[in-house]
Amino acid sequence: MKKTSLNAQILWGVLAGLLLGLGLSLLEKESAVVQGGLYIAELVGTLFIDLLKMVLIPLVFTSIAVGVANLRAHRQMHKVWKATLGFFIFSMAMAIMLGLTAANLVRPGEGLQFAMFQDAMQDFRAAEMPMSEFFSHLLHSLFQNPITALAQGDVLAVVVFALLLGIALVVGGERYANILILLQEFLELMLMLVGWIMRLAPLGIMALLMKLVATQDPALLTTLIEFIAVVVGTTLLHGVVVLPLILYLVTGMTPLKFWRGAREALITAFATSSSSATLPVTLRCVEQHLHVKRDIAGFVLPLGATLNMDGTALYEAVAALFIANLAGIELNLMQQIIVFLTAMLAAMGAPGIPSAGMVTMVLVLQSVGLPAEGIAILLPVDRLLDTFRTAVNVEGDMVGSLVVQRWVGKK
Ligand code: ASP
Repeated sequence: MKKTSLNAQILWGVLAGLLLGLGLSLLEKESAVVQGGLYIAELVGTLFIDLLKMVLIPLVFTSIAVGVANLRAHRQMHKVWKATLGFFIFSMAMAIMLGLTAANLVRPGEGLQFAMFQDAMQDFRAAEMPMSEFFSHLLHSLFQNPITALAQGDVLAVVVFALLLGIALVVGGERYANILILLQEFLELMLMLVGWIMRLAPLGIMALLMKLVATQDPALLTTLIEFIAVVVGTTLLHGVVVLPLILYLVTGMTPLKFWRGAREALITAFATSSSSATLPVTLRCVEQHLHVKRDIAGFVLPLGATLNMDGTALYEAVAALFIANLAGIELNLMQQIIVFLTAMLAAMGAPGIPSAGMVTMVLVLQSVGLPAEGIAILLPVDRLLDTFRTAVNVEGDMVGSLVVQRWVGKK
């Protein structure tokens, strides 16, 4: 009873947010109503995200440590590792192929005048990030002092430390049983807090969407309409057709059943544009509604929230081709293969926060000699596109946990 009413409230929140945002965008920008409305939306939206972030780090830490400890206890670790990484790479590859195919067919940006973006390009200086630096940065960010990582909210480093702690807990065996029980109980408490925070979700989501819609620039949207259509179209195709099809073929779960169990997380991802902030909700949906075992969900989802980003990978590839078209550069097959590979790396390297994909995209552009400043053109529409790609990123993680559960034979 309570569950369905929360879902319905969230859907109402989405609708109200979109309509209110649209209403505000029609009014005078400087008016007191618009300014006041945006201020309140900002306040409520930020509060919701802050609450999710509050539980994020303790939740990631305990769910991974407990998940790994239990997996090892069941002698499943080896299989789960391979299945998880295999699925991440496979689903991201599918997404990129879809994006590249569509971008080659539609060729967005080809007719646009490069000169009209020259100003934007000149004002913007992208940070240089050559491949070697990207790797050393990635490696360095894996191993950190756990206290620093916990304090700074550095998800990837927390994941690595929790993985190692989980393994040590099993190797240590009975002697450390108390610590494992403590972590387990702590995890349950965090999930209880998530349940409370979700009561605010309808309002938080409404506020976030209202602000997003009200602050879009319609003129820019129409100029970039072809690019936006390719990105949104292929992202939706991946999320609505490809991922559900994989899920159905592997597990037999119907898309409707998946949607019912996953919608809280998908809508939260759409509204927050952050896989990490959504992670507490994702864990709750997958465990409670989709019935994935805690040890598998606790392992696949936190890892997926930082590594597995189908929507981001697709976006990076399409955007690279778009910028090449704008610059009048034709990318040959070899260069497109490089785009394919670097898009995957860049998606894996992007943290699950808003617009993170834009930052790591520099890597993709530079790998084929495109001007990194080109991302200045995309920045104004990025917030809008980030909604869809984050939702698909999170969907990929949830599908991944269901697929991995089936592959390792743990119903
Ligand atoms: N916002 C995305 C996420 O959190 C990352 C990105 O910018 O592509 O999944």
